[in-house]
Amino acid sequence: MAGKITLTMIKPGAFRKGNTGPILSMINEAGFRISAMKLTRLSTRQAEKFYAIHRSKPFYESLVDFMSSGPIVAAILEKENAVDDYRKLIGETNPENAEEGTIRKLYAESLQMNAVHGSDSDENALIESDFFFAKNERTDCM
Ligand code: GDP
Repeated sequence: MAGKITLTMIKPGAFRKGNTGPILSMINEAGFRISAMKLTRLSTRQAEKFYAIHRSKPFYESLVDFMSSGPIVAAILEKENAVDDYRKLIGETNPENAEEGTIRKLYAESLQMNAVHGSDSDENALIESDFFFAKNERTDCM
């Protein structure tokens, strides 16, 4: 499956603002197939685990608080070159640097509350997909 999937989260801020529908629509129009999806909420412990790579960063605690502050939508997206193509669709981490028309440019509220997550490598796409979904919840594994 490497190369064909990426993991996204619609983060609590974008979910709260009712932007789940428009974001899913952009994902669909860009040619991604949704092979798994769930509405859920990260516990503090789960958010700490998901973002463990950033543990030493000054924004870690604040990021964990934000990511566990309300519901999210997690989804596995399937497409050739999924990781890179989705990173292009969402735009730069800091929305001020994101290109016009990208998801983060349109829906981010700040650097931290930047609307969506997208895996940064094929390896992490697999790890992050396993973090959220059992095999029988994923059409890419059925
Ligand atoms: P991503 O792969 O584009 O999501 O970026 P990173 O992996 O570098 O960072 C993970 C998440 O941490 C980002 O999506 C932001 O929500 C948040 N973040 C990154 N850098 C900063 C920062 O300098 N300050 C704050 N407050 N949040 C940040």
